[in-house]
Amino acid sequence: MSFSRPNFSEATNTRLRLKDYSPFSGMCVTCLDGCPGYCEIGRSAIRGREYIYPKPYGKVTSGSQKDYPVDFSHFNINGTCVGAQGVAADPDVATFPNVDIELRLGDIKLRAPWFTTGLGSTFIARDNWEGVAIGSALFGTMVGVGENVCGVDPEAEFRNGKVIRSPEMERRIRLFQEWQRDGYGGVIVQENVEDSRFGTLEYVIEQLGIEFVEIKWGQGAKDIGGEIKLPDIKRAKQLKDRGYIVFPDP
Ligand code: SF4
Repeated sequence: MSFSRPNFSEATNTRLRLKDYSPFSGMCVTCLDGCPGYCEIGRSAIRGREYIYPKPYGKVTSGSQKDYPVDFSHFNINGTCVGAQGVAADPDVATFPNVDIELRLGDIKLRAPWFTTGLGSTFIARDNWEGVAIGSALFGTMVGVGENVCGVDPEAEFRNGKVIRSPEMERRIRLFQEWQRDGYGGVIVQENVEDSRFGTLEYVIEQLGIEFVEIKWGQGAKDIGGEIKLPDIKRAKQLKDRGYIVFPDP
């Protein structure tokens, strides 16, 4: 039994010709000679891997459609009639406004025990940074700057292969710092292989006051580096000059 549903998804604007399909391949139970190819296999035969990007590119975040056999809805949290934990067993004290989920992680003060995933160099992350960063700062949690932000920043400046200025990275960090309250929360900056070559962490620690970092070998979702689509040849050449693998070679 497959928990996944391969070969068609509204994320890729694809569908099947038939309602019945093979659960292993996701192909129609009869793949018809002459079908225009509505599915991911059919579309990608013409457009290549471009077609398996969720659409529209740069405007969406994507969720998995894998139907995991166990999730949190399978558990119940049951209260107790006797005693209390973390608060006095007193109905006038154990009230909703007195709930306190503050946390200390070493020297990091958090008003709530969570932080955002790394919002990296993608357009969707860039375009929504302001709300996420200011919200996290006001609430007192942590927000992550993902990988490649300096490398993909068109206005970034480099000297001897090292980043010396990135307006986009500066914007992101300053926004959080401007709205941070009482020292709660913070910004974590990720570093992948390309960032380490650019000296991204040295730049953000020494020049932008960053104290929290995450060093990456791969990515949780992919185990290899990420990839982006570029809008024009000028950007393709710029990133090639900065050392990125650009395909096809501009
Ligand atoms: S090519 Fe057409 S018939 Fe074949 S699996 Fe895809 S949608 Fe179905």
